[in-house]
Amino acid sequence: MNKTPITVAYGDGIGPEIMQATLNILEAAGAQLDIEEIKIGEEVYKSGITTGMEPKAWDSLRRTKVFLKAPITTPQGGGYKSLNVTTRKALGLYANVRPARSYHPFVETKHPKMDVVIIRENEEDLYAGIEHRQTSEVYQCLKLISRPGTEKIIRYAFEYARSQGRKKVTCFVKDNIMKLTDGLYTKIFNEVGEEYPDLEKEHWIVDIGAAKLADTPELFDVIVMPNLYGDILSDVAAQISGSVGIAGSANIGDQCAMFEAIHGSAPRRAGQNLANPSGLLQGAVLMLQHIGQAEIAEKVQNAWLKTLEDGIHTYDIFKEGISKEKVGTKEFAEAVIERIGQKPHTLTPISYKEALPSQIKPKELPEENKELVGVDIFLEWNQGAPNILGDKLAQYQVEGLKLRVITNRGVKVYPEGFPETFCTDHWRCRFLDENDETISPNQVAELYSKLVAEGLNCIKTENLYTFNGEAGYSAVHG
Ligand code: NAD
Repeated sequence: MNKTPITVAYGDGIGPEIMQATLNILEAAGAQLDIEEIKIGEEVYKSGITTGMEPKAWDSLRRTKVFLKAPITTPQGGGYKSLNVTTRKALGLYANVRPARSYHPFVETKHPKMDVVIIRENEEDLYAGIEHRQTSEVYQCLKLISRPGTEKIIRYAFEYARSQGRKKVTCFVKDNIMKLTDGLYTKIFNEVGEEYPDLEKEHWIVDIGAAKLADTPELFDVIVMPNLYGDILSDVAAQISGSVGIAGSANIGDQCAMFEAIHGSAPRRAGQNLANPSGLLQGAVLMLQHIGQAEIAEKVQNAWLKTLEDGIHTYDIFKEGISKEKVGTKEFAEAVIERIGQKPHTLTPISYKEALPSQIKPKELPEENKELVGVDIFLEWNQGAPNILGDKLAQYQVEGLKLRVITNRGVKVYPEGFPETFCTDHWRCRFLDENDETISPNQVAELYSKLVAEGLNCIKTENLYTFNGEAGYSAVHG
């Protein structure tokens, strides 16, 4: 087998110890790796590089396209960018894969049968970092969901489930409230799901889904979700499996991928041969699957499960009555190495048949007929009841483009609002053609200029389009 080039960073704190232990295990299992080492983390940050990664490290990552990363310490104080966020975005690592499994009865857990994989979209949603303060009172964070981004993560989840012998894919969204953005997830989940008749499909509103996940995680298999819900719930899943310190994760892109433990650099445990290398080892097992060395991944995983089962535990999971021997990082790694070729008896042995999926291509969309039908103009205004503003705006029209409704934080306040509705200084004023016909961008520009000339404080506009006749904007209720 040819050696696969990978980039390795030893990181900070316990990073170097757990990385060494992990690499020793991989080598003993026969992993074919050609390792390039890079420096990342605290020292690099402190040398003035705000991303925490030297420029030549990026060259290595672009060359090998596979990154096994130990945790780093982010220095205290502002101005340092999150290395993880930078790496994910720069390398287009759109899929975060986090298995959360319990190892009952060898690692304490309330959920002995849990075996869930959370697949989280990694690049979009509220994490675009596009935020604005628009008025004295109101701040905004843009939630961006793209069709190709959504299709890629959903296809990835189905491909992952199929290739890894999983039975069911569940989608968590809040599409009852966010009908367009989260609604797109449901739509694509249903569309793409039809191509996978062999897999069970299930859709939950994220709130009740999250409650079920925390209560009866054994009901779930693979769960796919947008960035924010996935960020929160993958931590919940790891925590309730009882194994937050021994969970790994993969960040997969079309070209590159990054593998790591989910925990941090635990600086207080550094240099004492105490840390559990299992989290990083789990990341490395995902890496072996990704680079097509699934057989080696299986050997490592089964030897690791056998070590847990034999009660050889580091301090963090050691429990009198369950554990047999308390060991350090090195001894734990040696115990895993001794068990290579063995399988667990009580825990279910692992069988990885196929590589993790990569290179997911979204389908080309047919051309759509996009038409401009109106505009939402947002104003900062604090001069009394909504009717005063509404009656004022109702005077302005540009070739039939007329005020239809005003909302405040999404609640209709004009015409015929309730006096009880609490209003901020942030007003969304919707203008549509009086005969519901299409309008021109010039009408929008002219209307905007008119309002500005009248001394109104316009803070933003949002064009209203239809796509093949279907509204590309949320309706105003009430
Ligand atoms: P942490 O995960 O490092 O530690 C939390 C607790 O878990 C500590 O009690 C620690 O001793 C224990 N722990 C963690 N990993 C362990 C292991 N392998 N074996 C045994 N015990 C382990 O979280 P923290 O203390 O909040 O953060 C420490 C540093 O790590 C911070 O600088 C933070 O920014 C950084 N961090 C980095 C990453 C990353 O690189 N991906 C992730 C999270 C935190």
